[in-house]
Amino acid sequence: MKLDQEGFLYPVVNEQNCTECGLCIRACPMIDVLPQDQEKPLRVLAAWIEDPTKRAQATSGGIFLAIATEVIQRGGVVFGVAYDAKWNLYHSMAENLEECQKFTGSKYAQSDPRNTFSEVRKLLKSGTLVYYTGTPCQIGGLRRFLRKDYQKLITSDNICHGTPSNNLFKREISWREKQKGDKIKSFSYRNKDRFGWGYDAKIEWLKSGTEYDDAWESPYFSGFWKNNTLRPSCYRCNFASIKRQGDITLGDFWGVKKQVKEIKKTGKGVSLLLINSQKGVDLFAALKNVAFFESDISVALKTQAHLSRPVNHPESREGIYDQAYEGDFASFAKTKLLFGRKAKMQRQVRNWGKRALLWKHWK
Ligand SMILES: Cc1cc2nc3c(=O)[nH]c(=O)nc-3n(C[C@H](O)[C@H](O)[C@H](O)COP(=O)(O)OP(=O)(O)OC[C@H]3O[C@@H](n4cnc5c(N)ncnc54)[C@H](O)[C@@H]3O)c2cc1C
Repeated sequence: MKLDQEGFLYPVVNEQNCTECGLCIRACPMIDVLPQDQEKPLRVLAAWIEDPTKRAQATSGGIFLAIATEVIQRGGVVFGVAYDAKWNLYHSMAENLEECQKFTGSKYAQSDPRNTFSEVRKLLKSGTLVYYTGTPCQIGGLRRFLRKDYQKLITSDNICHGTPSNNLFKREISWREKQKGDKIKSFSYRNKDRFGWGYDAKIEWLKSGTEYDDAWESPYFSGFWKNNTLRPSCYRCNFASIKRQGDITLGDFWGVKKQVKEIKKTGKGVSLLLINSQKGVDLFAALKNVAFFESDISVALKTQAHLSRPVNHPESREGIYDQAYEGDFASFAKTKLLFGRKAKMQRQVRNWGKRALLWKHWK
């Protein structure tokens, strides 16, 4: 696998060594998607982990951690996505709950699975219970690679907007560090400290302490959200469908209060759960300390565009990485930032309203 100039990984075939066995084509999830047995999810739920601390640190309702806890308690291992100290983003394995902490929270870039697929196969062959998490195309890739179903493999995919390259995210990190003259220890676009469940950036600096920032002020995040910087294949994604790859699919249940009338408070986040296989049904039944309400696939389709189609391909995608990489990131930031002053003011008013409500209802 080699990085292209935008920072996306692509397979490269060494023509001299290739025996034309066709295995790479059979394993490629973009050429042929291996569907689940079911045509549509078996259950659709609004759910969250009851532990308030764990729910607060997760992106939506913290169901990833609830599943990871169950798998670890059964003696299994968990594969997830985390940054290293240099902001490289890749999949790795955790054998206990403490190690799983680094996987919590969505990192909105493409993660490198490295050699985790082979590790998973080895573990499954030795009878170990494995929980593997990733984007739908990564779970599709794993299933194609394994070439058969294992009872001891549990997978969850996320509802996916698409992924920019992590090199672009690294550009934003170094740009922020240069401006501040300090090093960033941790960064999240989905922090809940100030405004609860939504989009707010939290930056922990090495020397300067903690800082919060409007997530939409980030050129990287704006580019992601406006579909300007996604991997080219995201615009023709085979997986933006209700025929899911994971045993369980996790997403944000936006608008849940309107759709599930029993739910009154959502400040700390609610996950949309699609349970796509019998393995997923059995695992969910065993989860402890999870609150949930039944919902319906029609509701999921209504609130989540990426369950039925990939994101639009804007004309502004053309040449965007050249602008970000070749020029000065600050001028790239100026052109790519924001959705205009009016939108910014609307967000500010909404956030202060949310803050007042959270103050009243947080506990
Ligand atoms: C790139 C990306 C795009 C997304 N787009 C949408 C969307 O359009 N609509 C929507 O409703 N939800 C989307 N999500 C999912 C959503 O943000 C939450 O991940 C999901 O709601 C689960 O949250 P949680 O509270 O259960 O757990 P969390 O603790 O927030 O979830 C962490 C889990 O996500 C995995 N993960 C984190 N970063 C990545 C990554 N870069 N690649 C693969 N896996 C990762 C971790 O391994 C872990 O399993 C997206 C997530 C990602 C990573």
